[in-house]
Amino acid sequence: MEQLMRNFFLFLSKNKFFTKMAKKYGLRLGAKRFVSGETVEQSVAVIKELNSKNLAATVDFLGEFVDNEKEANERAESSIAMIKAIGREKLNAQMSVKMTSLGFDISEKVVMNNMRRIMDTAKENNVFVTIDMEDYERCQKTLDIFKQLKSEYDNIGTVIQAYLYRTEKDIEDLNQYSPNLRLVKGAYKESPEVAFPEKKDVDENFKKIIKMHMLNGNYTAVASHDDNIINFTKEFAKANNIPKSQFEFQMLFGIMPERQLQLAEEGYTMRVYVPFGTDWYGYFMRRLAERPANVAFVLKGMLKK
Ligand code: FAD
Repeated sequence: MEQLMRNFFLFLSKNKFFTKMAKKYGLRLGAKRFVSGETVEQSVAVIKELNSKNLAATVDFLGEFVDNEKEANERAESSIAMIKAIGREKLNAQMSVKMTSLGFDISEKVVMNNMRRIMDTAKENNVFVTIDMEDYERCQKTLDIFKQLKSEYDNIGTVIQAYLYRTEKDIEDLNQYSPNLRLVKGAYKESPEVAFPEKKDVDENFKKIIKMHMLNGNYTAVASHDDNIINFTKEFAKANNIPKSQFEFQMLFGIMPERQLQLAEEGYTMRVYVPFGTDWYGYFMRRLAERPANVAFVLKGMLKK
C-alpha cells in the first residue's frame, strides 16, 4: 500500500496541469509546512529565524522542468536575487539549484549561461552553490556540467543519490575533484534497472558511500532524516577521527525540526534546505510520496479551513 501511494504521488509530481494550478492558487494544500514563502523577503525572514537557532540554510528557488528560455532566464534571476540577499543580509546560507529550471532541457548553451551567471554572483557574495540531482535520465549530464563548472569555480558542489546502482562508481570518479557532495537516498521514481528497489539496499549503499567519501577526506553533507543513517555517520566519524568540520547534516524545512535543533546543540553543522517560490507543487508531491502520514496531516489541515 505504502509503495502504491509513493508511486501515485511521484506520478502526480510531474503533472503539468496541476503544477500550473498550484502556481495560480498560491501556497495551499498544506504546502506551507514545507515551503518557507513565495518571495525572497519571506524566505530571508525564515532563514534569519533558523540562523538565530544556530541552524544553517541552503535555499532553493522552487521550480523544475522549464521548457522556455525566457522563463529559464527569469528563474536564474530569482536565484541571483536570493544570493545577493544572502550576501547583503550576511545570512548563514548557501544556495541550491535545480538545472531543469534553468534551461537544462532547452540547450546546453542556455543552462551553462544561467549557471555561470549564478556562479559569478555566488562567487562575488561568497556563497556556496549545490546543484541538486534530479531524475536518472539527467544524472550523467548533471555530473558533466558539475565537473566543467568545478574547474571554473571552487564554490560549487552537487548531490549523489544512494538508490542508484552507478553511485559507488561516481563517488570513485569524482574523487579527483575533491568535491563537496551532498549524499541523499534519492527522491524520484526510478526503474529497478537503474536503482535499488528495496529500502534496505538503498540504506546499505548510503552507508557505503558515506564511508568512501569521508575516508577520501572530502567534505560530506549527509542529507537524511533517518536516525539509522545519522547515528551511523556520527559513529563512523568518531571511530575514524574525522573532525566535525569535515561533515554536516542536512534536513528539509518543516521535517523533524526538533531533531535539527538537537544535532546543532550537539555541535554538528546542521543545514536546513529552505525552498521558496510559487512553483511548489512537484517538490510538495515528492514530500508526500516520502511519507504517507503527511497526507493525513494535509487532509486534517484542509478540514480545519
Ligand atoms: P527515509 O527513510 O525516507 O525517512 C526516514 C524518516 O524520516 C521517516 O521514517 C520519517 O520519520 C522522516 N521523513 C522522511 N521524509 C519525510 C517527509 N517527507 N515528511 C515527514 N517525515 C519524513 N533527493 C534527490 O533526489 N535529489 C536532491 O538533490 C535531494 N536533495 C535533498 C536535500 C536535502 C537537504 C534533503 C534532506 C533531502 C534531499 N533529497 C534529494 C531527498 C532525499 O533523496 C530523500 O527523498 C529524503 O531525504 C527522504 O529520505 P531520508 O534519508 O530522510 O530517509
